[in-house]
Amino acid sequence: MKLYSTNNPSATVSFQEAVFNSMPQDKGLYMPEQIKRLPDSFFEELSNYTLPQIAFEVARHMLNGAIPDHDLQALIEDAINFDAPVVELEKEVYVLELFHGPSLAFKDFGARFMSRIMSYFLQDGEKQLDVLVATSGDTGGAVALGFLGVPNTRVTILYPKGKVSDIQEQQLTTNGQNIRALTIDGTFDDCQALVKQAFVDAELNKTFRLTSANSINIARLIPQTFYYFNAYAQLLRAGKSKVAFCVPSGNFGNIGAGLLAWKMGLPIAQFIAATNANDTVPAFLKTGIYEPKASVATIANAMDVGNPSNWVRIAYLFKDDAAALTSLMTGYTYTDEQTREAIQQVFDKYNYVVCPHTAIAWRALKEWQKEHTDVTGVFLSTAHPCKFPDVFPEKIAAFIKVPEQVKEMENKEKVAVSLSGDFEEFKSYLLSNQ
Ligand SMILES: *Cc1c(COP(=O)(O)O)cnc(C)c1O
Repeated sequence: MKLYSTNNPSATVSFQEAVFNSMPQDKGLYMPEQIKRLPDSFFEELSNYTLPQIAFEVARHMLNGAIPDHDLQALIEDAINFDAPVVELEKEVYVLELFHGPSLAFKDFGARFMSRIMSYFLQDGEKQLDVLVATSGDTGGAVALGFLGVPNTRVTILYPKGKVSDIQEQQLTTNGQNIRALTIDGTFDDCQALVKQAFVDAELNKTFRLTSANSINIARLIPQTFYYFNAYAQLLRAGKSKVAFCVPSGNFGNIGAGLLAWKMGLPIAQFIAATNANDTVPAFLKTGIYEPKASVATIANAMDVGNPSNWVRIAYLFKDDAAALTSLMTGYTYTDEQTREAIQQVFDKYNYVVCPHTAIAWRALKEWQKEHTDVTGVFLSTAHPCKFPDVFPEKIAAFIKVPEQVKEMENKEKVAVSLSGDFEEFKSYLLSNQ
């Protein structure tokens, strides 16, 4: 597998280099040089495959020899060891539950796969790998739990102070071992800016072997394609084949993976990008003008992103045919008030509790389906509602079943170092805590 930088398409790197560099020096993003259609035999068998089988076939197709089959199979069985069921809520409306992993969010797919890929490529005796990750909540938890105890790795998590939920903060700060947490006085974008600057800082790169775990890493994007195929396989078994996916979006990695799956031949009829008030992409789909903004805080805080880092990839996927993108993707944006209404409506209608991000996707899907009654809709549930307890009215909160993983964490002490958001301060923290 070869990958190029979106800022310099003529220079290519191997999969291993792209995984460890995370981002090219020229600040572009890595894209696979070729995204080929999966063979017909794969699609003929799709409805018979399990999730690990699909994951293996898709990864093998994309990686194209970068990891031998036998090793790849073992790696996938270790990484993708939880389910992603599609649940019918009403006729033609399904929820794809992506919260059955250790951190209770879809980011477990990316983080577990990536940590095992990195660990696979690390040679004995090599310098410790330092993973820097900015999080608005869910990324950090998934990465912390994904890397916890993985030899020769250390994870440094940056999260915006006061802007993550209690359970998220526990997942970030109670791990110990090779995981440390920094709480930053600022927004998620400020955290992300610190990480991005660290990657281009000569002194830090000389001292540490730095890598990123954010959704810009290609090893996080690839495993997110698996559950689109797997969801489609489940719908085929239910007799459905004309399917739209509605994805609650922030950095646009999740929906970007869906578009990769589409490029590989998955016949998805429509993508619906659902956002909170951070409407950069829905506004673009409406007006044709792409205008990144500063992020605003919402109750769906994992999507508080004004300048989605994966958008460049999506633009590149469609660089030869921008019109195809605007017909394949529709965007909707909702306020916090509309999000709360949606949580209530889902509960009243189905006796089912959705997290705020998921609620936005449900609402967007229902709105889109008003004019597309013949298409089966799947909205992605990106996190378990128990991660956002403050959002729910008491009656709904009482209905949420808290999984075992959460109960175990509750008694552990939270440890985080507080920093201002100034790059020099962050840098000197890293240098003096080797
Ligand atoms: C990260 C996250 C999102 C947004 O996903 P992107 O890939 O950044 O678009 C949505 N919902 C939840 C719960 C998340 O953690």
